[in-house]
Amino acid sequence: MKITELYIDGSFAAPVAGGSFDAVNPATEEVFAHIAAGQAEDVDKAVRAARRAFDEGPWPRMPAAERAAALRRISKGISDRLAEISALETADNGKPLPEAEWDIGDAAFVFEYYADLAETDAANGPTPVDVGDARFESTVSTEPLGVVGAITPWNFPLLMAVWKVAPALAAGCCIVLKPSEHCSVTCAILAEIIDAADLPAGVFNLITGTGPEAGQALTDHPLVDKLAFTGSVATGRKVMTAAAAGIRTVSLELGGKSPFIVFDDCDIDKAVEWIVFGIFWNKGEVCSATSRVLVQKNLYPQLMARLTEVTEAIKIGAGDEDGVKLGPIVNKLQYDKVMAAIDSGKSSGAKLVTGGGRPDGMNTGYFIAPTIFADVPTDAEIWREEIFGPVVCINAFDTEEDALTLANDSAYGLAGAVMSDDLDRCERVAAKLRAGIIWINCSQPTFTQVPWGGYKSSGIGRELGTAGFAAFRETKQITRFDHSESWGWYIEPESAE
Ligand code: NAD
Repeated sequence: MKITELYIDGSFAAPVAGGSFDAVNPATEEVFAHIAAGQAEDVDKAVRAARRAFDEGPWPRMPAAERAAALRRISKGISDRLAEISALETADNGKPLPEAEWDIGDAAFVFEYYADLAETDAANGPTPVDVGDARFESTVSTEPLGVVGAITPWNFPLLMAVWKVAPALAAGCCIVLKPSEHCSVTCAILAEIIDAADLPAGVFNLITGTGPEAGQALTDHPLVDKLAFTGSVATGRKVMTAAAAGIRTVSLELGGKSPFIVFDDCDIDKAVEWIVFGIFWNKGEVCSATSRVLVQKNLYPQLMARLTEVTEAIKIGAGDEDGVKLGPIVNKLQYDKVMAAIDSGKSSGAKLVTGGGRPDGMNTGYFIAPTIFADVPTDAEIWREEIFGPVVCINAFDTEEDALTLANDSAYGLAGAVMSDDLDRCERVAAKLRAGIIWINCSQPTFTQVPWGGYKSSGIGRELGTAGFAAFRETKQITRFDHSESWGWYIEPESAE
């Protein structure tokens, strides 16, 4: 059985106080690995190592091409072990294997992308700025931000970590990663790959451990310059409070309750395909899941019939079983939360169309049947709050204006989707949706090259794309005075005679 270790200052080590917790396969409920339980003392060692590597080591100062080469070695290390890492991700999180393979392939690509970006950025050099006074010359440049404390969730365990680790390293930062205690195994493999890629000691550090212990110690550590967090709104609030106490930069990628507006000129099968993908992909454990679907009245009855038929045909099972499209919920805790949300939906006045509990005959594993609620009261908790499971809420609307009002009536603003044959209408709606990510005639596919992040309670800042790189750089102006001249404010310039 695999027993993971912490990775601090270029070496693998057990936690100072010892201790581990179990990694459980949610399809079998069996323990398959033990994870090192890092504590505050381990976090302190890791942060000090990162601080030293940043302040005194070569990483932030080396030519971008050398950093890029190291990132490419990491990318290759992930690609070389893709099958092994994907299988572990499925065992840990429960997601179907093809989805895990997609995530891990993507993780390798993210390192490639940021390797390229580090080189392009360095080639651009400082930008001269005309300040309107010929005696002065100003340039603006960026430099590595410092020591990053990264805290990540369990729904895309490796990929969410890589969204922070790759740009932070590319930008010249040093990092301490604290993955979710519910899925840490693939981040332990990432530490092995980074170790083999020969980065200077202390540049990358891994502390596995719980949120209240290792996570809190990382957010409170005074030697951390930036906190990069992905997770729930409740924890994000704590991270932001800790950042405020230490006046540290913070980025937050939080939850969502994203709308999907379907107009009545849509092809039903295409609409159903994207609705199903938008909510049941990754078991609905997706921050951007389009969990509120708004269907125009004329199409509502036919669409509901086809949606129910397709949903009921989804193959449910262990993620490593052929053809499975819906795996188990990540763990018992989340299973209980989703079941509680379904119970609240049942008593909210909404109509339970299909699902609503454990699939028949599946008594082991944290399985929940894909669930549809229709005609959901818009003040119901299931309409307003993130469920983070395979549960979709559907309502009908009359006009484009009604749809937008319903869609934007949310505390969240991560994503939104619109589907119509009328592309002008799609663009109009996209412009009016208050969210950071909008899909037209699809839902969920996203690319490393474009920024990811939300409005309102869905977060602060952006990951991915060039914004994701800039998020790990500080901006510096250098202003030069032509000192052949006197300033002449307190001391009169000497006369020319
Ligand atoms: P969570 O908030 O429970 O945990 C996230 C991380 O925070 C974990 O590593 C956890 O150990 C740590 N943590 C917990 N308490 C802490 C504390 N007091 N101090 C510091 N760290 C602490 O979230 P989760 O259940 O792992 O993930 C699900 C949530 O993540 C959902 O709300 C989802 O929408 C969100 N998410 C958002 C995005 C995005 O890009 N916006 C992506 C994926 C997931």
